[in-house]
Amino acid sequence: MSGNTALEADDDLPVVCPHCLTSNAIGQHFCRRCGTPLTGLAVTDPLGQVYSEGDALRKAIDKPDRPLILVGMWLMWGPTFLACLVLIGWFVVAVSTEPFGPPGAPNVWEAVGLVALFVLFVVGLAVISGTMLFRTTRNYARLRRARRDKSRRQRG
Ligand SMILES: [Zn+2]
Repeated sequence: MSGNTALEADDDLPVVCPHCLTSNAIGQHFCRRCGTPLTGLAVTDPLGQVYSEGDALRKAIDKPDRPLILVGMWLMWGPTFLACLVLIGWFVVAVSTEPFGPPGAPNVWEAVGLVALFVLFVVGLAVISGTMLFRTTRNYARLRRARRDKSRRQRG
């Protein structure tokens, strides 16, 4: 069909992406370069919605240009991160006070399996939420510093 020719004929494409300014064909729901949603339809169908939210999350992490984004990220992932830390802390205490594994586990290997599963899940979740919070906060601080430097340069 016309899919290939549409990609090649750059200048004829009428829809300009608001994010990266790449031109896209009419009817294309996402920017072919950066994946930004281009149409309302992109957000109404379920898969598009997931994609758009992923896109919004990616942008929120990479470029948190409003304080609200930072607050939102902490509200969304802060409790998860804290809960994981509490669970890990409890786990460390439990392991160091009791001989091994959760109480009542019938044999050592079952206990090992449970512990491995727990560690994998909780530590994984802690790493994911912690990384997201860390990156958002760091990028936010960077963005603010850059903005402050810029306005200082303009004044002086
Ligand atoms: Zn784009």
